[in-house]
Amino acid sequence: MRKLELHWQILIGMVGGILFGFGMTYVDWGRDFVQDWINPLGTIFVKLLKLIAIPLILASLVKGISDLKDISKFRNIGLRTIVIYICTTVIAITIGLLLVNAIKPGSGISEDTIARLTETYSQDRGVTDKLEEASKQIESGPLQFLEDMVPDNAFAALGDNSLMLQVIFFTIFLGISMLLIGEEKSKPLKDFFDALNEVVLKMVDLIMLTAPVAVFALLANVVVSSGDPDLLLALLKYSGVVILGLVLMIAFYSLVVGTFSRYNPLTFLSKMAPAQLLAFSTSSSAATLPVTMERVEEHIGVDKQISSFVLPVGATINMDGTSLYQAVAAVFIAEALKFDLTFADQLTIVLTALLASIGSAAVPGAGMVMLVIVLESIGFPPDKLAIGLALIFAVDRPLDMLRTVVNVTGDATVAMMVAKSTGSVIKPKVKNWDDNLEEV
Ligand code: ASP
Repeated sequence: MRKLELHWQILIGMVGGILFGFGMTYVDWGRDFVQDWINPLGTIFVKLLKLIAIPLILASLVKGISDLKDISKFRNIGLRTIVIYICTTVIAITIGLLLVNAIKPGSGISEDTIARLTETYSQDRGVTDKLEEASKQIESGPLQFLEDMVPDNAFAALGDNSLMLQVIFFTIFLGISMLLIGEEKSKPLKDFFDALNEVVLKMVDLIMLTAPVAVFALLANVVVSSGDPDLLLALLKYSGVVILGLVLMIAFYSLVVGTFSRYNPLTFLSKMAPAQLLAFSTSSSAATLPVTMERVEEHIGVDKQISSFVLPVGATINMDGTSLYQAVAAVFIAEALKFDLTFADQLTIVLTALLASIGSAAVPGAGMVMLVIVLESIGFPPDKLAIGLALIFAVDRPLDMLRTVVNVTGDATVAMMVAKSTGSVIKPKVKNWDDNLEEV
């Protein structure tokens, strides 16, 4: 009998986790039980994915660049990638702004709800930690991000998951230098990275075998840790606008994949489903990256020369879901707290949400930290920032889960666009998720 496809298995795990989480919420000892005995299974899974992210970027990107044979091709891919990333992000922000201005979820929120949200969350550790992190970001100079991208110690960069851009910088430098010394001299190193790449992809397959159980654990924990259901409901209109925007982004990607890349959008979505479901369960594009790379390279069939660059860079700088959310949240908070926004302010939001999403780390909740920068850019009073974040904090986790799905899908879409625009063939290497698991 054929095994149930991976995305169905993950989906069953997710639904089971959510139901189990709700069940446990009503049992006295349930919350502690889930946090102590179930959640570690999910945490271990996320750690395993993060464990292989850096070796995978290193091996795959070196292989991708050294296979190019010619630096001008790399320049071509790099330029297209950055330009398309900026365009998709601006489209996402524009969709967010159009929706929030048309639906105005902030003007309908009652004083009583604002008071309750403020009272519950403005002193919450989640909110105060985010404000503190944001103030560190604000203090840094305008070119700090360039400075941060260049490592002064390759091994330190390789040893720290939060330094993904430094790893990418080092790896591109290494790959280009290998191209420059020529195929013959670089062959031993290239063979090493080729083999490492194969091994790491096998590790992704093995880790994915545990995905259904892991997402069960992750989602059960999200449910038992979530806040007051009444407050979640009070933010229904705001959440609805963000969700509608995110759905429109997925429709936009499907359109682009179907028309520009000439690839069946439904096949695209079903092949990406395991990565999307993991993005939803982990709320982290970085943790999902190994699976995104495996899906795009092996299952969709984008050439490694392209995907090995486009995807890791995208996971760190291209966050369409996050930028859309930041635009909607900024306008919602301003409206709810009666802070008037001019047209120029809205244009400022486009620019700062673009930069803020580039600067957001690919980890849970990072988008909310950078939202503070968007709010500051439109002159939102600093003493009201904690209240602003308190307003949206109750629903941040579920929205984070959803925007991460869009972030990951956006990266895959751009990988396909760059592939198509450079004339590269998109052809899957494996048809079913377990085709490459036969020998396991
Ligand atoms: N969790 C998101 C990601 O990893 C970032 C965010 O919006 O908070 O892509």
